[in-house]
Amino acid sequence: MHLDVVGAGPAYTDRLGASGASYLLRADGTNLLLDLGQGSFPRLASLLPPESLDAIVVSHLHPDHFVDLVALRHYLRFERQPARVRVIGPVGLDDRLDALHGEPGFSAASLDIGAVAEGTFHVGAFTIRAGRVTHTQSSFGYRVSLGDDTVGLVYTGDCGRATDVDPLARPGDALLTEVSFGPGPVPAGAQHLDAPAVGELATRIRAGRVLLTHLQMGFDRDDTVVAVRERYDGPVVLVEPGYETTIGG
Ligand SMILES: [Zn+2]
Ligand SMILES: [Zn+2]
Repeated sequence: MHLDVVGAGPAYTDRLGASGASYLLRADGTNLLLDLGQGSFPRLASLLPPESLDAIVVSHLHPDHFVDLVALRHYLRFERQPARVRVIGPVGLDDRLDALHGEPGFSAASLDIGAVAEGTFHVGAFTIRAGRVTHTQSSFGYRVSLGDDTVGLVYTGDCGRATDVDPLARPGDALLTEVSFGPGPVPAGAQHLDAPAVGELATRIRAGRVLLTHLQMGFDRDDTVVAVRERYDGPVVLVEPGYETTIGG
């Protein structure tokens, strides 16, 4: 499967060109998007016609992971009517979107929103495993693959306890992980990860490689990568919008 980094977070930054979390996976004619954070719709629309998405899977209800669904909804409604897109995410996503417009039915006009639950589901060619992670009351990490026995992509979403990710992963998977607090430490009460936690996670799950994302403003990029490498032997890269790679065969 092919991964395009559409947006790599975080919630705010002074880094020009940065946009909210969003990752496009394509394989065997299936187009799947993980999250659609602020400012990521334009790059998404430059990569493919957004109505050709088979589904968008949302990790949690923080705007840096879903708010450009508003832009997508407008696009579908006014540019490509009557196109619709399936969205799978935590319960309440439709209400959040409707509230942004103060308009009941706003999201349902163009988006088919369904609730995610722990377990396995399928979108076209993809097998997706959802697992709860510690962050908001309802936050999920995902493993996306072309089958349980193939190399997959494990996406942490935002996650405050790295061990929550362990059950999702299989040895050799690519780990797309938030590293909000860079070299660390994570302040008490912040439900996010830092590089030491990521490095230990990657080693524990025997990740094939690590793709770092969602680094907050003010943390050094090189120091962050170095701190992961101190605890993990495999390849590590801090991804940016425009980064692309192939995962698995
Ligand atoms: Zn969050
Ligand atoms: Zn976030």
